[in-house]
Amino acid sequence: MKTQKILGITKSIALVAHDQKKNELIKWTHLHKEKLSQHRLIATETTGKLIESQVHIKTKKVMSGPLGGDQQLGAMISQGKIDIIIFFWDPMETQPHDSDVKALLRLGVVWNIPMACDTATADFLITSPFMTEEYTAEHICYKSYRDRNLIK
Ligand code: PGA
Repeated sequence: MKTQKILGITKSIALVAHDQKKNELIKWTHLHKEKLSQHRLIATETTGKLIESQVHIKTKKVMSGPLGGDQQLGAMISQGKIDIIIFFWDPMETQPHDSDVKALLRLGVVWNIPMACDTATADFLITSPFMTEEYTAEHICYKSYRDRNLIK
């Protein structure tokens, strides 16, 4: 059984970049500033501050990733508050919050969230016609997971 989530014309986009990837994300954000400005942006703290000071677009900020920001974003995904994730994680460095990084990526897949982890995918995503229209995202109904431990 499947359920649906309607993504409105204005999307909630989460933006996160690890330290060695922050310049890449800032450059990408600059390039797509006009398009991004039409949506609600949510970012981990340092990433969000950099976007605001260097690209001059407003973001709602959660905690810094290693301090719980990735988990906050994960919770927001479960609550249906995030539509898209742009997450430039660093494949060349071990992160102290690696378990949180994995958890965020996992929840993105659980909830069928369009997710870009590199500039090429992010370019395809931001220029998709679905960015300026409604989109119905289907995902598996997890009712059986929720019910499996209930005593009958
Ligand atoms: P930051 O967090 O934007 O606060 O640096 C990103 C992360 O490491 O997950």
